[in-house]
Amino acid sequence: MKKISVIIPAYNEEESLPILYERMNNLMNSMKDYEFEMLFVNDGSKDRTIEIIKEIREKDNRVCYVDFSRNFGKEIAMIAGLDYATGDCVIFMDADLQDPPELIPELVKYWEEGYDDVYARRKSRKGETWLKKFTSKMYYKVLQHLTRVEIQRDTGDFRLLDRRCVNALKKLRESQRNTKSMFSWIGYKKKEVLYDRDPRVAGKTKWNYIKLIDLAIDGITSFTTSPLRLSTFIAIPTFIALFIYFIYVIVKCFIIHEAIQAFQAIILLILFFSGIQILLFGIVGEYLGRIFNETKHRPLYLVNEYNGEKEMNEQKLK
Ligand code: UDP
Ligand code: MG
Repeated sequence: MKKISVIIPAYNEEESLPILYERMNNLMNSMKDYEFEMLFVNDGSKDRTIEIIKEIREKDNRVCYVDFSRNFGKEIAMIAGLDYATGDCVIFMDADLQDPPELIPELVKYWEEGYDDVYARRKSRKGETWLKKFTSKMYYKVLQHLTRVEIQRDTGDFRLLDRRCVNALKKLRESQRNTKSMFSWIGYKKKEVLYDRDPRVAGKTKWNYIKLIDLAIDGITSFTTSPLRLSTFIAIPTFIALFIYFIYVIVKCFIIHEAIQAFQAIILLILFFSGIQILLFGIVGEYLGRIFNETKHRPLYLVNEYNGEKEMNEQKLK
């Protein structure tokens, strides 16, 4: 019998979990041909999330959990899920039921047809502001322009991955993760499934605009180094402008014999060049920061316990 691991990162989700378990339980019971594992990654929740997961596990040993030593963020929770999952395929799902579990049979159907990466694409996003929808749309556009790797639009992390995708993703151990770009990067046979994204069942979203901007910048810098080329693009017109201005000054001084208003020119030039310098420093700093973090070679996360057993924190790298 084939085994499916459903990986669920959870951070302060005490209200959603009982509803999630009920819906997943119905679904798992209806799919008799498969063995299931519901792998929760408790991302350092401050509420009763881990207690509730343990209570559910008492009744149902298909439920497994990895308990982090602190909050490491969803991206890291996802790689931990991949490290600990034992299934022939894995499915990423949010704990807040925005990704309907009822879509799982369809994902599995395409997997059985031979697809390696079956991803769910949102037809609609209920319960989200137009600003969030708009910014996310623009972001995908910009990102796609910057890279040759094809990016799937309107796709979250809700997807099914075959074991060979899992093994591929486990090899990508960079510390600043943007899993979405990794799904594109690994390639393999992909299939799209459309669905309606539901609003959260309970609790509040953990995202805010600062976090989203963080994620967006990480996405671009982890995918491509083309922002580094921005310096060239800005430098070329700058030097052309400088050259024209230089000719203008020479002509005015020596041919027309007219004094130039020096202070205006100086102020404008100072603002102009300091602006450019700050921008370029920012970009260089961006990459420097990434190099700094990668060269530390820290483990991506630390586990407190796995299914009740204390972890000695040797990273699972099978
Ligand atoms: N999550 C997590 N760690 C975090 C933030 C969020 O594991 O630091 C989990 C959260 O519990 C949920 C999923 O990631 O299962 C998506 O989070 P959320 O619903 O807040 O994001 P949104 O759907 O609004 O983008
Ligand atoms: Mg959500």
